[in-house]
Amino acid sequence: MSQVTGFAIEIRERYQDVAGDRWPAAVDPQPDELLSSWLHRLAIANGVAPRSFAGGLGLGGGMWSPRLDARLPEDVAAWLGIRTGVACEAISAMAMTDGALAPLWLPLRETARRSRSTWIQYCAVCLADDSAPYFRRSWRLASRISCFTHRCGLRDRCPACRAGIVPFAQTELVPQYVCVRCGFDLRGAAKISVGLAARRLERSIDDICKAEIAKGSPTIHEWVARLLRVPVVVGVVGAGRPLTSLPASARIRCFEQLAQRADDERVVAADRAVPRRCRIAATTGGRDGLITRFADFLDAHQRSPRFARAQPPGVDLAALLAAYGCAVRRGSRSTRRGADDGARKSLAT
Ligand SMILES: [Zn+2]
Ligand SMILES: [Zn+2]
Repeated sequence: MSQVTGFAIEIRERYQDVAGDRWPAAVDPQPDELLSSWLHRLAIANGVAPRSFAGGLGLGGGMWSPRLDARLPEDVAAWLGIRTGVACEAISAMAMTDGALAPLWLPLRETARRSRSTWIQYCAVCLADDSAPYFRRSWRLASRISCFTHRCGLRDRCPACRAGIVPFAQTELVPQYVCVRCGFDLRGAAKISVGLAARRLERSIDDICKAEIAKGSPTIHEWVARLLRVPVVVGVVGAGRPLTSLPASARIRCFEQLAQRADDERVVAADRAVPRRCRIAATTGGRDGLITRFADFLDAHQRSPRFARAQPPGVDLAALLAAYGCAVRRGSRSTRRGADDGARKSLAT
């Protein structure tokens, strides 16, 4: 006599009714995360490859997510907010919202020609350290060449196959730190060395940009235009092309040569023209005061036709940055003597 076993079947609510419009997996944005990076993580967490996810959003193919980085329509942000539970403002904040720096955004290129920039850079150590590896907004800027945390150069290609980083084209459920073309794990890429002087210069440029934007200064546009001309100033391979068109390796060379130029006699002479202001900045107001005063100095000289005539194109940028770096170093030394340990750490990178 056989024993009959059965299954208890119970009719429950439909999944759609329980979950509502929310997608099953929630993904929290990380600090400074780029919108496209969050979208790729969101897609994979919900079991959809990024390439197919674009179709779900009603977007075309190609560089669908980097295009959203540059311009996120309000209705798309609202639609994503409803499905993810992430505040609409937080989603919009992941896009490249700072229009003043838009000329410094790396251009969107799906293919990586050898002598050209690609659309995104990365620090392999950051990706390796992340609990949920993600790409930063700052890595979209041509004026960024190194990681402030790990003091190494940024990469803009897969070291194994030299292809660009194209997670938006991924057709499998594979994390975005894996090269779409060859499967190399980008977290394992070797560190790239960047000289200390070039990293200090980069940090100064970043500080000045932030200070100029924070105070809503219209001179930010001229400042950005000068940065774009850096390859012309230093005469690297590809001179004549703007900073945004050069691959990461060439931009690192640009910064190293510009930093070198800052030590030239001409620059030292230019530096001597502003010692008092530097000394004041180094001794009052800490790092913030230094940036503000240096930005004021920049404003004053950019408005001066006499200054504009006296300096060959581009040299003034190196001179001003040298003056800034000089003041930073003085400030750092006085800080070491003083009690402001926090400022010392940030200036010593
Ligand atoms: Zn890093
Ligand atoms: Zn590869």
